[in-house]
Amino acid sequence: MPRAVRRKPMPEMESAFVRCRTLGHAWSDISGLGPSPAHRITYLQGQRVMLRCSSCGTCREDVWAKNDGHLIHRNYTYPDSYHLAVKVTRSDFRRKYLTTFAELFA
Ligand SMILES: [Zn+2]
Repeated sequence: MPRAVRRKPMPEMESAFVRCRTLGHAWSDISGLGPSPAHRITYLQGQRVMLRCSSCGTCREDVWAKNDGHLIHRNYTYPDSYHLAVKVTRSDFRRKYLTTFAELFA
């Protein structure tokens, strides 16, 4: 008989967060929507690229090297309550996804 696996209860979270933490973010390039060029940080060797997730609102700031495209810098800004106080695995998020979006699988 297979041993029963005890699972921790998954904390409640917004469905958009469940989607992004399971499937990944839905990035849109908002570089042209930022501050006016006079107020942008300038990088001598890199291009700043600003991305925003259209699902959960997480923002990502990248700086890409102009000469060969390698990543110079990356920073994320997350919405409040995006991070959980407990450790949650990818499998936990997949289980949560299946219950949160159960209507997709009916
Ligand atoms: Zn997201």
